[in-house]
Formats: sequence, structure tokens, C-alpha cells
Amino acid sequence: LIPLLLRARAEGDRRYVARLQSANEYVTHPSDVALLSRQGSMQIYAGSNGLLQIDVGPDLNVDGDVVVVDPSKGIAERLIRARSPHNTLLVTERCDQLCVMCSQPPKKTHFDRFSEFTEACKLAPVADTIGISGGEPTLYKHELFALLEEVLNARPDLSFHVLTNGQHFDANDIETLSQPAFTNVTWGIPLYSSKAVEHDRIVGKSGAFERLSESLLHLLMAGSQVELRTVVLTTNISSLAATARYIGINLPFILQWSIMQLENIGFARRRFDALFVPFRREFALISEAIDIVELCGLEVALFNFPRCAIPTAYRDLAAASISDWKRKYVQECDSCREKHLCSGFFEWHPDNRTGAVPL
Ligand code: SF4
Repeated sequence: LIPLLLRARAEGDRRYVARLQSANEYVTHPSDVALLSRQGSMQIYAGSNGLLQIDVGPDLNVDGDVVVVDPSKGIAERLIRARSPHNTLLVTERCDQLCVMCSQPPKKTHFDRFSEFTEACKLAPVADTIGISGGEPTLYKHELFALLEEVLNARPDLSFHVLTNGQHFDANDIETLSQPAFTNVTWGIPLYSSKAVEHDRIVGKSGAFERLSESLLHLLMAGSQVELRTVVLTTNISSLAATARYIGINLPFILQWSIMQLENIGFARRRFDALFVPFRREFALISEAIDIVELCGLEVALFNFPRCAIPTAYRDLAAASISDWKRKYVQECDSCREKHLCSGFFEWHPDNRTGAVPL
């Protein structure tokens, strides 16, 4: 795993956002701190909050990273890694759904970090795309909209991808979401089935499908960019073709339908055997759904699927979707010609169940 929390010593007792710069000449913002010296794995910076000492380990390049320094805990959290396309901010751990396979089971508590997230995003590398997830980010919809608006007005080169359960958009949001800044926001929304009962059972909330349909209508009215996401499970694969038809006919305005493989963590860890679809053997049901949606003129992507598990005709749909900090490859991948294109596996995927076959 790529380290996201680094040991640090800092002056004062107040948390602050800092961008790590390798030399004084690159300091362009009051939050920039400049590297003074290196002592082994320790890097010592100076900035407006005083001296900052970070243990970067043997070979970590943190130049340009945006961190939140917490002097009392002795850590620097790498919120935005300058060399990664996989920066995601977890804005809350609360959620009003309880999906059977949730990879990040919700908590009741909430620690408001919108202000430091806003500051950090404004310091992101040029043209970066920043992910926002939870929990359910739109439980704090007004704070979230304010963050997006403030950052995108200040930095129109940036984009956001927000993962949301789509339960909280209403008619009053249309005006806000229609603003030019929001053209750089894509909403990633799960739709697990076109059958309301099946979708509601998977997300653990009665009426969720109906509320999601309302939200999609408001997003359509606002001209928002929507990516629909469907995790393939034993409980929805038999209706995947029907879901594809529903999307193609009723939701033709979406940017993309992402079909996803189950992640073996969170609630799914103990339900993995019951929910996991052995898609290497059962790809026909997935390919049928892909064909239907493509016939309707929509884009499809396969997320978290190793390329060698996908028949050649559909392999180009596979996205290298697993974030770098939680991605692994297995020994078989060393000789694979398509490793550089492949999502690989989640760090926590059982090694004896990868079935990897080098291409
Ligand atoms: S062998 Fe490894 S790198 Fe190659 S396609 Fe399979 S999982 Fe991906």
C-alpha cells in the first residue's frame, strides 16, 4: 500500500494545510512550505507555520503533495498526491444506505473537514481530477456544493468526480447545479437494478430506487454529467440485461455506464463467496448487457476487472480503475504484456482467487 499518513513533527498545535515544495524558488502560495534539508528519511520544511519535519521513508517522492499537518497527532496526511491520478477526499463516513457489499461501512460520527479540503483542492496540480466519496457526501449537500463552487471558480482547470447514492438531489438544486462551475463535476451514482425491489434490497433502503429516479431527473434538468455504476453481484446479474435496457431507454443522457467487479472488503469481506460472480466463467451475461447499452449509443466501461478475465472483444472496455494506493499485481502479472493497461487486483483480493493468466 502507498503510505497516505506520514510521521511528522510540527510547531504549534493547530492543524494546517501545506503544499510541499522542493525549494524556495517554487513557493508561490502562502500555504507552500520549502524544503530546507534532508536527514536520512527526514525532510525538513519551513513555512508560515514554522518548521515542519516529515519522515518520507526510503524512496517516497512527496514533492508538490498537499498535506494536512496535525501537530498534536504527529502526522502529515497526504490529501493530494502530486503524481497520482487517484486522489480522493472522504468527506464523511455517514451514510443513509446500508449496501450489502459496502466497501466502507458507514459510521454515525462526522468530522467536518470541508474547510481544509477546500483549501487543499485549490493547491492541486494543474488540470487534476479530484474524487470525492464517503459515506454519502450529499448528506452535507450545501457544504459540498460550496466546496465545488469555491474551488472551481478559483481553479476552473480542475475537475471533480463525486460518488453519491443519489438520494438527496431536489428541484431546488437545479439552479446551483446549472452554474458553469458545475460543468466540471461528474456524479458517479450506483444503480444496481432496474427492478426497484432488487435495487432497494441491495442498498438496504426501502424507496431508494424511486428517490434515485427523482434525483436523476433533477440532474438531467440541470444538465449535470452522470456516470451510472453497477456492481455485479449474484443477486443482480440475472437482471443485468434488463438493467441495461432500462438505462438505454430511460437514461440516455448519462456519460457512461460502469460495470464493476465486487471488492473484497468492508461488508463484502464476509459475504464474498455468496455475492461474488465468477465472471471469468459467466461473462456472457455481462457481454449481453454491454451489447444492449452500446446499441443504445451509450458508453460502457468495466471497472476492477483484470484484463485477462475479459474476452478479447470486450477487453478494450476495461479501465485501469483501481487506485494506485490499493492496487496489486500477482506473480503471473510480471510476464504480462498488458500489465501497464490492467487494473490488477485490490490489495485485499485473495491471492489464490485471482486466476491471472499473462497476456
Ligand atoms: S496477468 Fe495480471 S496484468 Fe495481465 S491481464 Fe491478468 S491480471 Fe492483468
